[in-house]
Amino acid sequence: MTPSPVRTETDLGRKRRARRMARLLAETHPDAHCELDHDTPLQLAVATILSAQCTDKRVNEVTPKLFARYPTAADYAGADRGELEELIRPTGFFRNKADSLIRLGQGLVERHDGEVPGRLVELVKLPGIGRKTANVILGNAFDVPGITVDTHFQRLVRRWAWTDESDPVKIEHAIGALIERRDWTMLSHRVIFHGRRVCHARKPACGACTLAPLCPSYGTGPTEAAAAAKLLKGPRARELAVQAGVDPELVPAQAVVAEVP
Ligand code: SF4
Repeated sequence: MTPSPVRTETDLGRKRRARRMARLLAETHPDAHCELDHDTPLQLAVATILSAQCTDKRVNEVTPKLFARYPTAADYAGADRGELEELIRPTGFFRNKADSLIRLGQGLVERHDGEVPGRLVELVKLPGIGRKTANVILGNAFDVPGITVDTHFQRLVRRWAWTDESDPVKIEHAIGALIERRDWTMLSHRVIFHGRRVCHARKPACGACTLAPLCPSYGTGPTEAAAAAKLLKGPRARELAVQAGVDPELVPAQAVVAEVP
């Protein structure tokens, strides 16, 4: 059996490779950002709760009306459940999510004067806020560096042999030791962008991927340019092909307008 690259690479070698890949990711996805529309920490907390098992695009379709109807934590705390459920129904699991939003509102009113706190220890004690959501809020609403270990992040850092951990908290610590703290939030966005647009769960676009020379999982998806180019997704799909040295004409029109997962 071939030994795992995580086991054979030295810690220093892995750190150097991870940082080179992080720089390539920054060049590959200059548009990376939090894809959940929000203006305030409360709006981001609400949007993140709604994003469970739902695309960010769908959440963004629902939130303008929701944010207008419930501008404060007290509004969620005192919400009419039926009305709230109807507003968030398109995001799926709307009963559970309505429950989380009402309890979040109550928790914020009771413990934090209706304000979203800017510290991890306080955030994770709030109803509906797990560690992943807390890091999203810290990184994007408070400028406190945070690593967001979602399903894309987990898959990619394991494919890259940055870590062989499978527990999200252990992954967070392992990656935190490889990448400088100030880069954590943007790294999270870039990794998630790459997972949504290039390194898909089932068929990653290996033959059209800028990270290929440093990726131990190259070959998990098609390596031939024409097949790989068809797998790129999003408005910058053609630019992604060019960056990987692939003819952008190989990217079909529907890939450019495709909804990213
Ligand atoms: S080479 Fe393939 S497995 Fe590696 S990051 Fe790129 S798409 Fe993902």
